[in-house]
Amino acid sequence: MAEVIDGKNVAEDVVRRVKALTAELLEKGALKPGLAVVIVGEDPASQVYVASKSRTAKECGFHSVQHTLSAGTSEQELLDIIGELNADPAINGILVQLPLPGHIDAGKIIQAIAPQKDVDGFHFINVGKLGTGELETAFVPCTPAGSMLLIERVRGKDLSGLNAVVVGRSNIVGKPMANLLLAANCTVTIAHSRTKDLAALARTADILVAAVGRPEMVRGDWIKPGATVIDVGINRIAAPERGEGKTRLVGDVAYAEAATTAGAITPVPGGVGPMTIAMLMANTLASAYLAAGLKRPSF
Ligand code: NAP
Repeated sequence: MAEVIDGKNVAEDVVRRVKALTAELLEKGALKPGLAVVIVGEDPASQVYVASKSRTAKECGFHSVQHTLSAGTSEQELLDIIGELNADPAINGILVQLPLPGHIDAGKIIQAIAPQKDVDGFHFINVGKLGTGELETAFVPCTPAGSMLLIERVRGKDLSGLNAVVVGRSNIVGKPMANLLLAANCTVTIAHSRTKDLAALARTADILVAAVGRPEMVRGDWIKPGATVIDVGINRIAAPERGEGKTRLVGDVAYAEAATTAGAITPVPGGVGPMTIAMLMANTLASAYLAAGLKRPSF
């Protein structure tokens, strides 16, 4: 049976280290790392994510600010708030919770965030830095950055000679994941909905990352023996066995099948999920170190 990669445990390690490095930063006379989270509208899932981000920021010892704006907020009003946060020296990281209401152009909002405060790593400058291997100063999107940390726990930092297959080519997960694996010397293939014979391709992967959003699409016989399997997918499905109307979360990988062949695998929940918020804290800390003229800590 595969080793289970405990993302909750690794995420807790990251948060503990961020907390300790925050204390060190204050001892050097710098300001507390500051994280501003902006939410527009009343989407319940977004409210839960934002509350969790603000809570973890406080746990890390950050200056934590939350802007909760009504669904009717105009694009210009949001741009004005981002302008103020860009200029505020107490703020190192700005996160605008997505999705935004339809009348606001999310792309325009993301590009308005100062790249050195773009702790989500979505600004073109940060995307370009990751793509060109400028990892010392890039902010990397939190979910792939967290997935990479989990891979390193199993395989180490140098992945030379390994074949990696990333299923999914989104800007938030698939593409940055592929770039991180490439930077770590993997031979990388990106698969997507138009890929032919995905199962055969997946079977070539020493490292298989699934970021698709289709419940249990990756079957056990797609897994190369000993492979490291990272399941980014979070899908809620009906669970009548738990009672009428009940649901449960599953990943993009059929876990029970895959775990018999893989060398190591992330569960859902408790794998990649907890890493995302932890890496948001790591990115905000890095921004504060850079703002203080210090080398950013590595994780
Ligand atoms: P997305 O933007 O919808 O992208 C999905 C990708 O999967 C697309 O590139 C799509 O291909 C590809 N795809 C769809 N059907 C496919 C198929 N049958 N075969 C092969 N590829 C297929 O999704 P995302 O934002 O990357 O998220 C992916 C999953 O990760 C979701 O379950 C999401 O909930 C989860 N997620 C988790 C976290 C976290 O853990 N914190 C964070 C972000 C996302 P095309 O490009 O050809 O359409």
